[in-house]
Amino acid sequence: MPANLKPFMIPLYFALWLWVAWLPEYSAAPLLYWLLLALLAWLNADFYSGLIHIYLDYRPLDKHKGFERLFHYQGDRSSAEFELMKQQVLAQASWLEEIVYSFKIHHRNVRPYLQFTYSHFFFETFPAAAFLLALAALMLPLTSGLLADSVWFILLLCSVIALHTNHIHACVHGSKQMRRGVKLIRLLQKIGLMYSARRHHEHHKAGLQGFCLISGHTDFLVDRICGWLLQKGWISQAEWRGER
Ligand SMILES: [Zn+2]
Ligand SMILES: [Zn+2]
Repeated sequence: MPANLKPFMIPLYFALWLWVAWLPEYSAAPLLYWLLLALLAWLNADFYSGLIHIYLDYRPLDKHKGFERLFHYQGDRSSAEFELMKQQVLAQASWLEEIVYSFKIHHRNVRPYLQFTYSHFFFETFPAAAFLLALAALMLPLTSGLLADSVWFILLLCSVIALHTNHIHACVHGSKQMRRGVKLIRLLQKIGLMYSARRHHEHHKAGLQGFCLISGHTDFLVDRICGWLLQKGWISQAEWRGER
């Protein structure tokens, strides 16, 4: 995305989100109905965040672009030498490769991750969030009635939850840039709506569990899927460790 467009994308996304959110006929069903749909969206987003997380963690880095040197660098990662090497490698990397590298390296060294801003994470998850929002907007002229309103509502919630997947993750780690987010996440953790830091640290040890990045309530399913993929040999621990 061109850098000069970026400052407009955050307000534009939320303006479009509010516009689409205004359209469903909420009075057509009781409040409990919408709350149950919100729970469904919450669990659905959690499950898909887990599957996408497995894909990102186990996707090999491209050795030819120099990711291996970057990933296994033994010297000082705050040095000018490392920063130059990182800039050179990332300059030829795709958007997806940069995200894969960011996910893999944060398992080893979480400190730089804590310094990323709201805007940084926004643009990592923006394509998925924009796709879901566009899907909801495109359906608007095609259908009407409670069923259509319910689908819009779920798509809308999934869009805004997906958008904040990495913000939540960074706040679970104790982000230094999103202090209010950290406080909110701690509150949600206390009432059981968000995965715990302890559980997430288990994920960091071996990449075998705790992939879901919204609430963690669907981990029991995603952990089994990961175990099955490993057993089948379709993914390997060497890929998670960045050795392939
Ligand atoms: Zn991971
Ligand atoms: Zn993490």
